[in-house]
Amino acid sequence: MRSPSHTAPSDHASGRPSGSQALATALQQFAAADLLGMDTGLRALLRRPKRALSVAVPVRRDDGSVEVFDGFRVHHNVTRGPAKGGVRYHPSVDLDEVRALAMWMTWKCAVVAIPFGGAKGGVSVDPAALSAGEHERLTRRFASELFPLLGPERDIPAADVGTDDQDMAWIMDTYSTARGYSVPEVVTGKPIELGGSQGRQDATSLGVAHCALLALRDSGLDPVGATVAVQGFGKVGAAAARRLVEAGCRVVAVSDVTGGVHAGAGLDVAGLQRSRAEAPGAPLVDLGAGQGADLITNAELLALDVDVLVPAALENVLHRDNAPDVRARIVVEGANGPLTPEADEILSDAGRLVVPDVVANAGGVVVSYFEWVQNLQAYAWDEQMVADRMTGLLEKAYALVAEVAGERAVSLRLAAQSVAISRVASAHRRRGLYP
Ligand code: NAD
Repeated sequence: MRSPSHTAPSDHASGRPSGSQALATALQQFAAADLLGMDTGLRALLRRPKRALSVAVPVRRDDGSVEVFDGFRVHHNVTRGPAKGGVRYHPSVDLDEVRALAMWMTWKCAVVAIPFGGAKGGVSVDPAALSAGEHERLTRRFASELFPLLGPERDIPAADVGTDDQDMAWIMDTYSTARGYSVPEVVTGKPIELGGSQGRQDATSLGVAHCALLALRDSGLDPVGATVAVQGFGKVGAAAARRLVEAGCRVVAVSDVTGGVHAGAGLDVAGLQRSRAEAPGAPLVDLGAGQGADLITNAELLALDVDVLVPAALENVLHRDNAPDVRARIVVEGANGPLTPEADEILSDAGRLVVPDVVANAGGVVVSYFEWVQNLQAYAWDEQMVADRMTGLLEKAYALVAEVAGERAVSLRLAAQSVAISRVASAHRRRGLYP
């Protein structure tokens, strides 16, 4: 077993911890509120999380020792419905990062018009350094530390970086055991046999691919043969790459934390996914080398001359130092917050079309919403119905955002932010201020 790394990465450009850079980005994007003529009291309220819980998570290691990890859960805003957001396991997790991610969830749920507020949670841990037993004990203890917040009508976690459907099963079991009966609707992204929705595992990726196709269409580019590079070959990036291949695109490069692989004629993405499933811990560069692909760095991947670039790893990967190198005509944000505001401005000035995260990767939370609805109804929809309803909601959000962007001559991000913020603000106004 490797020893855990607790070193928080810092942002390349600013040198500050990535969490505080993410929060700075989220707050700067909130400046869209300036366009809406919102009163200063509401603006001040929406800049802050409603509540934030910081917990110590003690875990017994396999050797009998106890290690204590820092965990967080933040509810940014719950005016439109229960708090919804993933749980991340990564060494970079800190309160600022979780605050930023929770704020983005509020806007994401609002822009696609689903009745949830924004939340996020996480533990500062390198999951690769945990054994299976340690990982389970961490998840169960973290879930029990979150009991003051959790509940199907209050806070519904899902998977994110470093967690998956097994973690959701453990959270559901921990919560249900404490209640004394099964509560599948307390989490989404569960295994199907526990009430998970058909289509949830690939929902974010299907949505990312769908938005990429809408952006290609709006840019007058034919998806068939369009070239694509994807950073991050995890849950979101790998399936988005495969979906784009299925739509006729040529995925020429993919990467993970170990580096990237490139083939001008197009990679066999399904083959890479199969090899990954057969050798889960294997570095992507080894799997790609097996296909005869060239090895490239993540920096080289981000600068490839392609039609579509999909950053689907972590936040802040495009910043003021490397954004000028981007040659992709369209950037579709698979990850949350992959562009700093400086990168956003550089790409916008260079005429690149950026499809913002709150729309591009909203397919996951939309199907999470469908999963919660199905659980509450104790009824399961088929996969086609889930996919059709999800892509329908995404298309509606994309069209509205594109229309607002056109009318006001602003970027898709600014348009998405203003649609989302005005929906949340109007819910606040209708509810009024207590007392
Ligand atoms: P994941 O852990 O399954 O995959 C992350 C991938 O990024 C891995 O391939 C990892 O090797 C790679 N990576 C990590 N650090 C990297 C680096 N420095 N350079 C290059 N690659 C790196 O996580 P995921 O669920 O696919 O999430 C990816 C992003 O999408 C995150 O920003 C997450 O918040 C966002 N997101 C996920 C979902 C979801 O349903 N899983 C939904 C919406 C948004």
